[in-house]
Amino acid sequence: MNPLSQLPSVDRLLSTAALASLVDLHGRAIVTAMVREVLAEARSAVKAGAPLPDEAALLAKVGAGVTAQVSPKLRPVFNLTGTVLHTNLGRAPLPEEAVQALIAAARSPCALEYDIESGERGDRDTVVSDLLCELTGAEAATVVNNNAAAVFLLLNTLAQKKQVIVSRGELIEIGGAFRVPDIMNRAGARLVEVGTTNRTHLQDFAEAINSRTAMLMKVHASNYAIHGFTHAVPEAELAQLAHQNNLPFVIDLGSGTLADLAAYGLPHEPPPAEAIAAGADLVSFSGDKLLGGPQAGLLVGRRDLIAKIKKNPLKRALRVGKLTLAALEAVLALYRDPDRLHLRVTAVRQLPRSEAEIRGGAERLLPALQSALAGLPVTVEIVALKSQIGSGSLPVDRLPSAGFAIKPQGKKSGVLNRIEQGLRGLSKPVIGRIEDGALLLDLRCLQAQDEAEFAGALAALGIQK
Ligand SMILES: *Cc1c(COP(=O)(O)O)cnc(C)c1O
Repeated sequence: MNPLSQLPSVDRLLSTAALASLVDLHGRAIVTAMVREVLAEARSAVKAGAPLPDEAALLAKVGAGVTAQVSPKLRPVFNLTGTVLHTNLGRAPLPEEAVQALIAAARSPCALEYDIESGERGDRDTVVSDLLCELTGAEAATVVNNNAAAVFLLLNTLAQKKQVIVSRGELIEIGGAFRVPDIMNRAGARLVEVGTTNRTHLQDFAEAINSRTAMLMKVHASNYAIHGFTHAVPEAELAQLAHQNNLPFVIDLGSGTLADLAAYGLPHEPPPAEAIAAGADLVSFSGDKLLGGPQAGLLVGRRDLIAKIKKNPLKRALRVGKLTLAALEAVLALYRDPDRLHLRVTAVRQLPRSEAEIRGGAERLLPALQSALAGLPVTVEIVALKSQIGSGSLPVDRLPSAGFAIKPQGKKSGVLNRIEQGLRGLSKPVIGRIEDGALLLDLRCLQAQDEAEFAGALAALGIQK
């Protein structure tokens, strides 16, 4: 008899209890399509000489296929990479206040561009502009999709077909193809580089100014540092030179924290308020770097310049949605109470954690990791590590941290890759890093309240010996 005729029919499989409950969960269309796919595969395999699969095996394949297909692509993970604001892992986790605000705005119509007092049409920027002005000392503010968009929009508005003078040492590339010269070019502005890689003087800027100059610009060197024989012009001097020539002085701050990080024992990172106080006419910074909010580009500064920027039709193309504004408003509101920031803003909470505190977590979790890896040819130890802030913030300073180092015994280095893959394959994937022949799990971003969940995830780890 033709073995193909012994494969069950689509209807037969769909009538089993196992698939009926899958249909209940995910709908008939998805399950039926997967049954057809699995049966087609089985047919080709049998034709090629494979033994006839039994029904249980077919059902298991359908179940696994449907589960894989319906599980969301944007999955939560444990960030144990040691990079706190990891761009590939979504940067700053939002504070609970922002999560609640975001949910409320998602569920219901909200006064996004509607002035409730007058009953008239409003402006979405007003959701956060007062808070931004209060926190930075600026006259006006606007919000776009991210800081790259903010820089693009300000250049396109104020410097199209004109020249922008920047120090050569600041012509940076930030991961993900944001290069200052490319953005300038696309925005229609002409870049004028002055000074040398390591030293730029006020005179260099002064000599480059002419009738086609649109602005002087400073780009915060956020992801690298030049050491040794260096000189950069202080912001206040650049501002003064710009103003003597009736030009705006603009700073792309990149990260831009609103907190005094030095108060938490972290290195000083210049806040927008400092740039405004030094005389900057416009300052741009990210919402999801050190600020700890949603992805957004924040522009603060002189009222007339912000008004011009808001009139640019590209503002409409780069604007943010209500979910971003809801989360951003909630995060900015937390900055009005600096005393409790470290309890509420996740990024501000994670960055100053001490090595000793993080090591405490590692000691509590060591037994769970050891039992998950029992029988494998590896050693597990608690080690001192160095975390980094990430997203180009404070590039040089590393934060003392702690975590696990998993090392192969003898020459069996393939086992590390299997463990790394196994951790990534968990229902909430665990992302670490392999460095110098060890798999490192930095526990800085694992808060005490997440430890039970993490231990539970480890219990599900099954790695072939
Ligand atoms: C990160 C950064 C940007 C880009 O900001 P995004 O919010 O990622 O778009 C631009 N300029 C500087 C100096 C930065 O550090």
